[in-house]
Amino acid sequence: MAVAQIKSSHGRALTSNPGFVLRTDAAAAWDRAVEKFGKNVLITGAWRSYETQVKLFKERYRAGARSPYGDYRYWNGTRYGRVKGAAAAVPGTSNHGGGVAVDVKTARSAGDPGRARAVVFTSWEDRDRQRFLKVAAGCGWGDDEGRRVKELWHLTYYPDRDKARGSGTGGGTRRKPHRIGTIRQGSTGWRVGLLQHRLRGVGAYRGKVDKKFGPKTADGVRTFQRKRRQLTVDGVVGPQTWYHLGRGAKRGRSGRWRNEIAQRVVGLQGEKVDGVIGAQTVERIREVQRWLGIPDDGVYGKATARALVRKG
Ligand SMILES: [Zn+2]
Repeated sequence: MAVAQIKSSHGRALTSNPGFVLRTDAAAAWDRAVEKFGKNVLITGAWRSYETQVKLFKERYRAGARSPYGDYRYWNGTRYGRVKGAAAAVPGTSNHGGGVAVDVKTARSAGDPGRARAVVFTSWEDRDRQRFLKVAAGCGWGDDEGRRVKELWHLTYYPDRDKARGSGTGGGTRRKPHRIGTIRQGSTGWRVGLLQHRLRGVGAYRGKVDKKFGPKTADGVRTFQRKRRQLTVDGVVGPQTWYHLGRGAKRGRSGRWRNEIAQRVVGLQGEKVDGVIGAQTVERIREVQRWLGIPDDGVYGKATARALVRKG
């Protein structure tokens, strides 16, 4: 199992809700919001490991089942129907996995209303909820995603809205991308193998993966470069071409070679380069995005690849 979990140094228990863990910057921002609000807001869920997401999803959704709720989701190409419980995100797609989402108690889930100085949200119009969200907004917390998925209890941390960011409260880590090393015709070795696998994945190369950069490989590189308007079509794989080769890496294990390039670009090394995008890789992507000065959503897509090339 190669999906990395947030380490204890990356997340800490919330003072207001012991036992729940978020990414460090999100946890600090949550505590600030609660402090400003002056009352506790009870949490029922925060960071969830990939394994927990899988377990939760499998409890509520069955492959091929008819859903009495009309709730169907695709996971690894299979259609799942919800057979019981509340809706759950497809594993790997939830912000709970990134440690930047919390679920708070609502009237329905409140088992212990007697807890002192704690609020429980009862509806979207709940005055406590509105007051809390007003205070929390300056700390980066919002219900945009919760509204989109119609989950009253779900709140998300948006670091770029956090006014305290970069003032020593966490979240300010920036990290330069890592250079994989330039290869060209005549080069040999693992970098060439990685390139050949990746080019095969996009249909730009049909030769063997022999770790030898010959004319066919160079043709494949040019084919790839032609499709990315930002790139010079020269058949040489330098940092800029590597940046685009890593683009599109998605959570999970599909697209192994692209994922591996993405992991190397963000500076993971050794066993951590496993071709599976988990919490640790997402965190590194976010660090690189902060370095680039673009929204740190943890997704290595077009915007990130382009910003990397622009920054050189
Ligand atoms: Zn949630």
